Amino acid sequence: AEIRNLMIDSFLGGIWVPFMSFNLLPSVTILVFLSMDNISVGGIRLFVKGVVAHLLGGFLAVLLYGFSFQPESSLMNVLGCLPMLTVYPLLIGIISHRLSLKLSRQKKQLKSLSQTDGLSELHNRRHWEELVELEFQRCRRRNGISSLILIDIDHFKDINDRYGHGTGDEVIRDIAKLLRSTLRQTDIEGRYGGDEFGIVLPDTDAAGAEVVAEKLRKKIEESILQNKIEARCTASFGIAKLEINLKKPVDWIERADRALYQAKKQGRNRVILFGVEKAFSPQPPGVED
Ligand code: GH3
Ligand code: MG
Repeated sequence: AEIRNLMIDSFLGGIWVPFMSFNLLPSVTILVFLSMDNISVGGIRLFVKGVVAHLLGGFLAVLLYGFSFQPESSLMNVLGCLPMLTVYPLLIGIISHRLSLKLSRQKKQLKSLSQTDGLSELHNRRHWEELVELEFQRCRRRNGISSLILIDIDHFKDINDRYGHGTGDEVIRDIAKLLRSTLRQTDIEGRYGGDEFGIVLPDTDAAGAEVVAEKLRKKIEESILQNKIEARCTASFGIAKLEINLKKPVDWIERADRALYQAKKQGRNRVILFGVEKAFSPQPPGVED
């Protein structure tokens, strides 16, 4: 509809030019501003269509009014055109400014959406891995210390099977909330996979990471879903500190993953530090591999 209206405008603009005996200033003003509208909406294609509409309108006007050519513009003509020449560009400037603000807002929203996991609202895997890489490089440059934790919910398939996928999703959301509320602002938490989460703890050694992981383990064990359906949920934790012999960020994640595997193997609901076989958490009674 907007394009049709613009073409009608262009046609009427074309009619005006012979009616004004081709008076140069108002004719050019009308045609240029109409063309500007056409270009801003439909680019060169609409501009060309607009020119055709101008010509058709012009032809019709010559047929109706006859051909009269007086291109000189008087002072009155100039004064008559001034409001259009000043107000219109100013309005266009305001509209363009608002549009660019909206665009930059939308660009930010889009960026954040592309980096966020829709369910947990944590960083998604791709973005989290990028942040792991940044931390890896930062520590390399400054000889810094850092630790990485991988968390996997225990027997999550059972939760899905017993309570349904919706409840499973809620568990994921609850654990994400718990991570956000427990961890520091500088810690970097993300959803690594289906029921897996990753955390980078900058400026934290292995002992510090074990304390954090144990705190999270206890909180998950105690709080998740107890009020809603009396269901309990536990999680296993693998920790790897950043060491100088690690070549790539992916090796760092791999070490945490191996520690996590050990945590699962040793009975779940526990924290294991890479390179240290013994579980940090006590073996809970009655838990089988
Ligand atoms: P384990 O203790 O060995 O980790 O057992 P598990 O049952 O948790 O096994 P695993 O971690 O391999 O399986 C994860 C399951 O999580 C598989 C899939 O059905 C489920 N899952 C993955 N993503 C989602 C999700 O977004 N929502 C829900 N509800 N379930 C998911
Ligand atoms: Mg699991």
